[in-house]
Amino acid sequence: LERELQEQLAKLNEAQLAPTIQKDGPMIVIAGAGSGKTRVLTFRIAYLMSQGIDAFNILSLTFTNKAAKEMKERIATIVGNSEAKNLWMGTFHSVFAKILRMEADKLGYPSNFTIYDTQDSDRLISSIIREMGLDKDLYKYKQVRSRISSYKNSLITVRAYFQNPELKEADAMARRPRMGDIYKEFVDRCFKAGAMDFDDLLLKTNELLTRFPEVLAKYQNRFRYILVDEYQDTNHSQYLIVRALSDKFQNICVVGDDAQSIYAFRGANISNILNFQNDYDDVKEFRLEQNYRSTKNIVNAANSIIDKNETKLDKVVWTANDEGPKIKVNRSLTDGDEGRYVASTIWETKMNEQLPNSDFAILYRTNAQSRSIEDALRKRDIPYRIYGGLSFYQRKEIKDVLAYLRLIINPADEEALKRIINFPGRGIGQTTVDKLIVSANGYKRSIFEVMKNIDKTDVKINAGTKTKLKNFVTLIETFQVLNETADVFELAEYVTRTAGIITEYKKDNTPEGVVKIENIEELINGMKDFVEGQKEIADTTGNLAEFLEDVALSTDMDSDKGDADHVALMTIHLAKGLEFQHVFIVGLEEDLFPSAMSMNTRSELEEERRLFYVALTRAEKQAYLTYALSRYRWGKLVDSEPSRFIEEIDEQYLDIVTPIEERRFNPMLDSKIFGDVSENKPTSSGKIRFKPAKQAILKKGGPTKSSSDKFQVTTPKNLKPMAKTSNDTNLFDSKLAVGNIVKHIRFGTGEVKKIEGTGADIKAEISFQHGGTKKLLLRFAKLDVI
Ligand code: ATP
Ligand code: MG
Repeated sequence: LERELQEQLAKLNEAQLAPTIQKDGPMIVIAGAGSGKTRVLTFRIAYLMSQGIDAFNILSLTFTNKAAKEMKERIATIVGNSEAKNLWMGTFHSVFAKILRMEADKLGYPSNFTIYDTQDSDRLISSIIREMGLDKDLYKYKQVRSRISSYKNSLITVRAYFQNPELKEADAMARRPRMGDIYKEFVDRCFKAGAMDFDDLLLKTNELLTRFPEVLAKYQNRFRYILVDEYQDTNHSQYLIVRALSDKFQNICVVGDDAQSIYAFRGANISNILNFQNDYDDVKEFRLEQNYRSTKNIVNAANSIIDKNETKLDKVVWTANDEGPKIKVNRSLTDGDEGRYVASTIWETKMNEQLPNSDFAILYRTNAQSRSIEDALRKRDIPYRIYGGLSFYQRKEIKDVLAYLRLIINPADEEALKRIINFPGRGIGQTTVDKLIVSANGYKRSIFEVMKNIDKTDVKINAGTKTKLKNFVTLIETFQVLNETADVFELAEYVTRTAGIITEYKKDNTPEGVVKIENIEELINGMKDFVEGQKEIADTTGNLAEFLEDVALSTDMDSDKGDADHVALMTIHLAKGLEFQHVFIVGLEEDLFPSAMSMNTRSELEEERRLFYVALTRAEKQAYLTYALSRYRWGKLVDSEPSRFIEEIDEQYLDIVTPIEERRFNPMLDSKIFGDVSENKPTSSGKIRFKPAKQAILKKGGPTKSSSDKFQVTTPKNLKPMAKTSNDTNLFDSKLAVGNIVKHIRFGTGEVKKIEGTGADIKAEISFQHGGTKKLLLRFAKLDVI
């Protein structure tokens, strides 16, 4: 370990080494982009371990789970995998979700609580707005959600809300006087559903640490060393957690760059970094000045931009790297031309310099800008991947399957239930669901409980509907029984078939429908990987709860294994912390970047400028700035002017390339150069339609491997039946009887205690010598009578 570590430490400059080996006490590293902050954090963890600090005592908080994974891998090369594995590392959300599970009972939550994603929250909020009979134009669910989110991140609970007349007034002024009532109902409903939204993961952690001193003490003692990357973008709630946990030992190391604070709109508080000195005693402050990432041209240009901001800490950033080529600025006539410029430049550079696609990134201010770029990339057959779009797990068909799984684990999960109670259609209409919701609210029970006890309730529905509800309950209960013994892969395969999801989607044989089935297959394949992966790690079993936790907190960024070679497309916000050889910053136009919505105050404009600084500093070798003179926005062609940010860069770093009107895409010419494009025939409307390039299918753990430069189309793998059909299952209709001694492939020997159910649902309760009593569905249980 020593030698390995010394070798690594030798790779740091002096300024980096100092914070790396500063073992104890509070410390802050403030430094510009690319100066090695993340590297310092990484090496520092390895150093701490070399000093005898147990991995279990180190908590490291990163901006993405992917960053955590990379850090861990890096550390593993120094300290070994078995040690690195024990580090607590991840985003605030993923780390504290784990802790909340362990402590859930204290807060009145089940340990298998569901994590509502944004879509679930939106649905619940919409439903509440509808139930309350409010005007949905005044109460836009997205605005309501973001308002609730900001309360939570400022630790304003429902109670605190109602105690603060100013908040009520502010909402009334915004013509939403019932905001507080919605907030209350939302919180109550989540609680009853055993669900937490993303903000709750932080809010409830704070609640846990303040209300239970013994819990706080436990985690203070566990996390003796705490490290936080990208500290400039922590919000108040995160700040308080870090503060509380580090209070006892004060071994807290935060790194960040005030010039890269870009999440104020989401509650990030730049004063956290500015005030760090006041929060702890004897803070050691470190500065790094040398940038290792980018060329002189890029570093200097970036400096000249951030210089325009008034609010900033003074910092020096310089580099010993090459001068490098100047930053290319390109003007196009339209957004379509811009896309073609980007695609052809990537294509040429790739060919000339023999570079992989992954050396290129295209960054934009808003997701909507990706379309014209995508069209152009597809024409050139350049594989790309959009980050930050709908994650695989948020697609409708995937959420449908996951909703079944969520309900199995947590039947109180209201959003999951509403999603699938009538999917596939089983004749349970919205009116019935509404009645159930009212009743559930009245009884203060979950909807599922009301359904289960439908005969004992006063819900006014007819006998036929009651039967349908009961059948649904039985269906879920059958799955629950299977879940006791099956792993998540087996379970999901069974559920998708039995619940009729596959059959439902098979009815739709449009290309979109086929893709949906492929996606479900991909999900199930991903589960298999997950199960095997978990078994390898050995400390976990690959069960459903673990899988769902993983899914709930995974973003499509995290699922990038890095093994597929593609150009990366993402918003600048997502690009924070990353680096690429060639970076295109597109759509540099007034009202787009800086955004029209962020030009009202100086501080908003400064945040836009920091965003531009982040964008430019992602580039290692070459940066390209592009803008168009007209662009389709909101369905209209609008004229645009070049962004003020281009003008703000010192001209000596720029290379204004010839306008490229003449380079406009010419199908005839390009087909000669790039091969036949005849399959992209014009449609009857005269527009050229392109065969939809198949995006790499995401799955847990990453996109489908693509060995070639092209998009690889995965052929649908047919779902294999999970077990043999009932006919050849040995015991399905055999005469298994109470008292028989049986042997199970996994649980060993046991005695049959009870047999219940009929037909395909026959279950046996078996008491195993080791492993306790289990209820097994006979059609799946591999049992031998002995
Ligand atoms: P950002 O502000 O963008 O998050 P950062 O300060 O975290 O940047 P790193 O990502 O840690 O910077 O480092 C930038 C690049 O420079 C990385 O590729 C890293 O490996 C490299 N680097 C950092 N320090 C050194 C060094 N001493 N010698 C060589 N390369 C280095
Ligand atoms: Mg970094």
